Amino acid sequence: MKKRIYLSPPHMSGEELKLVIDAFESNWIAPLGPHVDAFEREVANYIGVQHAAALSSGTAAIHLALILLGVEQGNEVICQSFTFSGSANPIVYQRALPVFVDSETDTWNMDPELLEEAIKDRMAKGKKTQSVIVVHLYGQPAKMDEIMAVCRQYEIPVIEDAAEALGSSYKGKKAGSFGQLAILSFNGNKIITTSGGGMLLSNDEQKIKSARFLATQARDDAPHYEHSQIGYNYRMSNILAAIGRGQLKVLERRVQKKRSIFEFYHKRLAKYEGISFQPELDHTHSNRWLTCMVIDPQNTKTTHDEIRLLLDKYNIESRPLWKPMHLQPVFKGAPAYCSGVAERLFKHGLCLPSGTALKEQQLDQICALIESLL
Ligand SMILES: *Cc1c(COP(=O)(O)O)cnc(C)c1O
Repeated sequence: MKKRIYLSPPHMSGEELKLVIDAFESNWIAPLGPHVDAFEREVANYIGVQHAAALSSGTAAIHLALILLGVEQGNEVICQSFTFSGSANPIVYQRALPVFVDSETDTWNMDPELLEEAIKDRMAKGKKTQSVIVVHLYGQPAKMDEIMAVCRQYEIPVIEDAAEALGSSYKGKKAGSFGQLAILSFNGNKIITTSGGGMLLSNDEQKIKSARFLATQARDDAPHYEHSQIGYNYRMSNILAAIGRGQLKVLERRVQKKRSIFEFYHKRLAKYEGISFQPELDHTHSNRWLTCMVIDPQNTKTTHDEIRLLLDKYNIESRPLWKPMHLQPVFKGAPAYCSGVAERLFKHGLCLPSGTALKEQQLDQICALIESLL
């Protein structure tokens, strides 16, 4: 069997190792250090926000964002249902209650109309929505103008989960520059990686300063260890920030490659009846982190599962789309405002191998296998 083709494996450029060696030679192994400061500045500049805190994961960034927005026991937080569990789990870390909102078909992200319906209905039930978490799934930006307008109207701060969307933009502004707080992930399968890591972004300097404080065990200013708040061990190490700086140098190239992978699949497979792909909204630019295909079993001879199993037989990884949070056993009973869009996508959708080191000949093989079932 040939080496397995993974969905989105890490792809180093060579630049990372030089920076890691620099970190070793200066003995800035831990904690923090100059690469962390530089990585924060570079990412903030790239996104177009003023401040950033480098953290141990994207999930940690969402957790701190919720704390900074005052989310606590008994509050409600509205979250996009069609996402990875890392978006929603931190709501429960705060003993707050998740309320899920379905997606629309133009972007596969939070439906602004359902969002407003949810906010109004929670209010009518005497509940207060403390924050809204919107996600740019698979790199495609959500309808941010509409979502921000709804949240402004009801004065609810937005946490923008741009974990999958580094390098994407909406009307000329980068994903991660819209929410009061935004988060990125540098997990191993994301478009660039530090092996594991995340970042919290904001134009609010005080919030980012507080995030750094909470992420280093909330140490008060004293020669001994003095604590007046509960803290966390959530900071990124200098070594990992060095990897991230090397990766950031090739981000634009990675976005181009991801988009060309999407184009390859689209050109080859979209012509078949019953096959469609994640759309790209006008005036948005997706990083096409993963190419996602929907197989309508009514109009094809095959199903997403049959394709997945055939690819797997040839040692090629593919994966169903995210299972919506309102269908997850762990969130059973959470209020959900649904139209069925996410559920339908989950039932028929498949993420195709989208690693930026894929060769044309491999893409060709994957397409030929899929075509054999169509
Ligand atoms: C990866 C991911 C996260 C979590 O990031 P980690 O760095 O893995 O903790 C959150 N939200 C979404 C949408 C993600 O894809």
